Amino acid sequence: MRYDLMIIGGGMSGLVAAVTAARRKLKCAVLEAENRVGKKILATGNGKCNLSNSDPEPWKRFNAPEFVRPVLERYGKERLKEFWLSVGIALRESDGRIFPYSLEASSVLNALRAEAQKLGVGIFTDNAVDKLEKGFKAGPVNADNVLLATGSGATTGRGSAFLAEGLGHKCTPIYPSLGPLITDKRNLKGLKGVRVPVTARAISYGKVMAECSGEIIFKDNGISGTAAFGLSTFLARDGYPDAEVELDFAPDFTYAELEELLERIPPEGVVHKQIALNVRQASHDAGGMARVLKKYVLTGVKPGSMSLAQVASGGLELKDFDPYTLGSRLCRGFFAAGEVLDVDGECGGYNLTWATASGIAVGEHVRS
Ligand SMILES: Cc1cc2nc3c(=O)[nH]c(=O)nc-3n(C[C@H](O)[C@H](O)[C@H](O)COP(=O)(O)OP(=O)(O)OC[C@H]3O[C@@H](n4cnc5c(N)ncnc54)[C@H](O)[C@@H]3O)c2cc1C
Repeated sequence: MRYDLMIIGGGMSGLVAAVTAARRKLKCAVLEAENRVGKKILATGNGKCNLSNSDPEPWKRFNAPEFVRPVLERYGKERLKEFWLSVGIALRESDGRIFPYSLEASSVLNALRAEAQKLGVGIFTDNAVDKLEKGFKAGPVNADNVLLATGSGATTGRGSAFLAEGLGHKCTPIYPSLGPLITDKRNLKGLKGVRVPVTARAISYGKVMAECSGEIIFKDNGISGTAAFGLSTFLARDGYPDAEVELDFAPDFTYAELEELLERIPPEGVVHKQIALNVRQASHDAGGMARVLKKYVLTGVKPGSMSLAQVASGGLELKDFDPYTLGSRLCRGFFAAGEVLDVDGECGGYNLTWATASGIAVGEHVRS
């Protein structure tokens, strides 16, 4: 059957684009590899779906601020709020993060699916596209335009950016981002399962690459938790160079204050008992213990598994896409949106902001 727009991938950006284009009376079809659309949406924000962020300059939280800025400026907080209301979703804000008012990711997916169905979007599940050529035919669908919205291989996703290679596009190397880090086991002794607040720094050849405050959860082969996820974002963008992580277990104290405190009380009075034990093994005097607590070094940092990452860093090269329409500069009628592009954002709703805004941008610019 002939369509105006074929959308490969029924995730966040694909469904949003389908709804937007169908409202302009374009005939749209979504081809989805899984047995239902939007599975990843259900996993977002621990099931609560951190849809967006009230940050007035969200583009600064991306690897490619100049590329994402035109779309994020045009489809800012108010436009996205209006889009969500138009599909029947009210929002709530908490510490700058925007969620569906229900705090249920399933309500977001249900609303998008219902709207797409109401608008007559053809949804073809169990239809994994494995090849894309000019002429735009895949499975039961022929189309004048194609949107590649296949996301990334992070967690349970499929990396299908290769489909655009048939049209002349290239893909940058892909690394897991917003995920755990593997480290040498030397300083992990006894810490498996320990969960602590820290300020964490990633250092490569003496240069601080990133600093994040948050939680660290020790694993038998590395670290997880929000601070580790935050560092992974920046390490991934640099292709995981040789690096070490320094943990500050007492960021509220200066070194001098901590030394003075440890002259009065034992380290067990400041940090988790297993960390205190490791610190005691490294040094016996207050000054030495303060130094280790302020700079606990984990060496040999490597990326964790893609199956544990929330996002992939890398994707289709941006220079080949128009940053306003997200149309290809190499192949007329071809568009890309969401994570399949070489776009990754920090934690805090930025990646779904991009998926939503880029989906709307394509839905508004495709011609019938
Ligand atoms: C556990 C987890 C939690 C997250 N939480 C948040 C959060 O709270 N806030 C936030 O901003 N971001 C979050 N993210 C990131 C966010 O989910 C993604 O960035 C976003 O979903 C990307 O949207 P997308 O449309 O590009 O891809 P997706 O939503 O992943 O959709 C891609 C779709 O394409 C389909 N597909 C792939 N290949 C093919 C093919 N060859 N043929 C047909 N179909 C195909 C896939 O099956 C999938 O349905 C989270 C990610 C994970 C894994």
